[in-house]
Amino acid sequence: MTERIRLGVSTCLLGENVRFDGGHKHDRFLTDTLGQYVEFVPVCPEAECGLGIPREAMRLVGDLESPHLVTVRTHVDHTDRMLTWAGNRVKELEKEDLCGFIFKSDSPSSGMERVKVYNEKGMPEKKGVGMFARAFMAHFPLIPVEDEGRLHDPRLRENFIERIFTLKRWRELRSGKEGLGGLVDFHTRNKLLVLAHSEKHYRTMGKLVAGGKPIPVQSLYEQYEILLMEALRLRTTLKKSANVLYHLIGYFKKNLSVDEKQELLEIFDQYRAGYIPLIVPITLINHYVRKYQQPYLAKQTYLNPHPIDLQLRNHV
Ligand code: SF4
Repeated sequence: MTERIRLGVSTCLLGENVRFDGGHKHDRFLTDTLGQYVEFVPVCPEAECGLGIPREAMRLVGDLESPHLVTVRTHVDHTDRMLTWAGNRVKELEKEDLCGFIFKSDSPSSGMERVKVYNEKGMPEKKGVGMFARAFMAHFPLIPVEDEGRLHDPRLRENFIERIFTLKRWRELRSGKEGLGGLVDFHTRNKLLVLAHSEKHYRTMGKLVAGGKPIPVQSLYEQYEILLMEALRLRTTLKKSANVLYHLIGYFKKNLSVDEKQELLEIFDQYRAGYIPLIVPITLINHYVRKYQQPYLAKQTYLNPHPIDLQLRNHV
């Protein structure tokens, strides 16, 4: 990659004192670990729309799909102010080339899911979406989003980071001259990555690229981008990943002894059963890719989708 991935983030997660009580919600994983690879674009809806710091706490009230943003004690309705600001802010963010957004969980402005919405009796239902998060996701439906709470789950974390790195590579391809050759090359490199998420998308994308010649190139790229981001959003499982691993053995048919193949199979089975992390079979495969100079596998992003020191494949 030629430049850093740009990620939107709720400002309080970076340790900035922008919360209603003048505090922050600093998330060390974001600043200390992920921050080594990304450039953050902070957004604090409540401070940026002019509600001040500190300010009265607020919450969502009314209809789950179109709630109002109301202060808790004095019941001032800030809905119109927030919606107008959010509409303008998402347009400004078009220029930021964001590959993802990390929202602050549970916030009536920034929460991306399961935010409390209070009914007329004052009873909450955890089914709402923060007002700015809703505007962002509607405006950028293909951009990966997560919240800092969900990112503590190692599988969700790996999935999100894989998506932002893939989207960045895709954007770099699109920043050059778009042509069928570039798309074929990108697809070839990412085949196994897609397969680990969705065999259905893997087949559809293969057909789209193979039959791409008569399709106007911009439309081809747009269709491919939708399928790519849809596929990667689907979670991979032990079974799906193990199927990709079993498929890899075929590339070493002539190189490996019966015993070495058996060893690989045993390790893949242990991974599939949940006893060892994905990094173990991947390291072994990468060893053979290097040793036998397997050109097709050497290009596969699935074998190196993100920096190893993020330790995203080390969990069972
Ligand atoms: S949750 Fe959102 S609105 Fe609240 S302080 Fe953090 S960034 Fe600002």
